[in-house]
Amino acid sequence: MPSLATTPAGRRVLARLRGIGPFLQGSLTITTKRCGRPTCRCATAGPLHEVALLTWKEGARTRTLHVPQALREEVAAWVAEAKRLKHLSHAMSAAQRAFLRRRRARARRGR
Ligand SMILES: [Zn+2]
Repeated sequence: MPSLATTPAGRRVLARLRGIGPFLQGSLTITTKRCGRPTCRCATAGPLHEVALLTWKEGARTRTLHVPQALREEVAAWVAEAKRLKHLSHAMSAAQRAFLRRRRARARRGR
């Protein structure tokens, strides 16, 4: 059990963190491409095929994964949830810094 030393703002962040659902870091982009089949309409006139791609960074490399049509909305929700988590992580860190500053100020006043 971790320590619960935090500020009221930190407690609010923790409460929101408990509501986090599945998340996925990266971005979802919709692009078009040729499928490669020589007989397909896309080989000559078009239109091209729409594909959804998930991209993310692994170190310096950008990685890509194809997202099936049926999962697009769900994956978009995971990506949005990851952004929410990142925001909450920043907010929690700010709360803990505030907690430390408050402690220091109290110690200087002589407890
Ligand atoms: Zn095609």
